[in-house]
Amino acid sequence: MAIISPITNATTPTTLIFKGGRVYDAKANKIETMDLKIQNGKIAAKGKNLEVARTDTVRMLNENDIVTPGGIDLHTHYFGCWGNKMDPIAHGLYKGVTLQVDAGSSGMSTFEDFNKYTLKNMNGMLIAMLNISPAGLAQQTGENWFLTNHSVQKTAELAIANPDTIKIIKIRNGPTQNATEEIGIRALEMAKEAARLAGGLPVMVHIEDGSPLEKIFNMLDADDIVTHAFRKNPNCNILDEGNRLKPFVLSALQRGVRFDIGHGYGGFDKDNVLAGMGAIVAAELLSNANYRPFTTSTDLHCFSLETPAKSLPDVVAKMISLGMTKEDAIASITRYPAEALRLPESRWRMDIGDEANLTVWEHDFSVHPFVDSNQNQWNGNEMLNPTVVYVNKQLIDIAA
Ligand SMILES: [Zn+2]
Repeated sequence: MAIISPITNATTPTTLIFKGGRVYDAKANKIETMDLKIQNGKIAAKGKNLEVARTDTVRMLNENDIVTPGGIDLHTHYFGCWGNKMDPIAHGLYKGVTLQVDAGSSGMSTFEDFNKYTLKNMNGMLIAMLNISPAGLAQQTGENWFLTNHSVQKTAELAIANPDTIKIIKIRNGPTQNATEEIGIRALEMAKEAARLAGGLPVMVHIEDGSPLEKIFNMLDADDIVTHAFRKNPNCNILDEGNRLKPFVLSALQRGVRFDIGHGYGGFDKDNVLAGMGAIVAAELLSNANYRPFTTSTDLHCFSLETPAKSLPDVVAKMISLGMTKEDAIASITRYPAEALRLPESRWRMDIGDEANLTVWEHDFSVHPFVDSNQNQWNGNEMLNPTVVYVNKQLIDIAA
């Protein structure tokens, strides 16, 4: 079972001004020096040297601090054996993440338990993907070994009944889940059909060593998501020997299929992330300003928490160390996962009148040692450390 720590260091100021720092503009994907004012839970003003009234609460920021939309982690686990002793407050909210998405730890037979004891107590800060496997990941592996109890209809009905909580249908497709490749493909067909019946939800597919990549990619449509996209195993690599995107991968990206990092304990290979980002740039997929295929996520669970995934800020720092700009890295944990979840623009654009849901990051330039899923080690010298979040009208100090 997951645990939920109480939120401490929370206040509810009527008017709050972040002063002296910088603000990320998600639409323009740039960071500018300015103040930001919140009133009654909504963004009330942005600009240089905002005036302060006597009753306003003021937070003085350092000139390097950045105010961004609240961080989103698209791939986490807080239920069943993978979520054992995981704490969405300590491991998510206190890491600057105001929205976490459990990636299919529960399915139609277990979702109600997860919802009742965990999701409902998280005030909208933890939502879920529903696994096509009835018990989700309750048995750790083998969830699509037999499809006897899988139900497209009931999975879709549950998603329809919980539109604010269930946003995506999840499936893992590889040799540790399926008795045969054929059964795995059938399970993916069921996931796609359940998503369609639920009103056209996206499907997230986990790939691993031995997954039938070409068949899987060819079944995916715009907004479907491949997680662990940049892993490197002998039989799971989206790149060819020349580090180019395989033709069926390029074709999927051109259709609008998204890529999720999903670090976990097996999903992040430093060299393949680097090569994969290069291949995507080379394929000129980034020229379309309205479509970015990347979401940076942790795949945080009880086996990846201590090492190597650690936290969303750690994974973001790894992406920056491999050449992603900090602006793109911020977009990959704010705008792009919000779009993958089909949340309204107001979740990430930070316009006047939008509900305030924010994270403040200290820009730290000290040296950080990293390790990936394949024991590669390297250093980075940029990290975004969360210091404050503002969510559900509460100002929560992380560092205090
Ligand atoms: Zn996962």
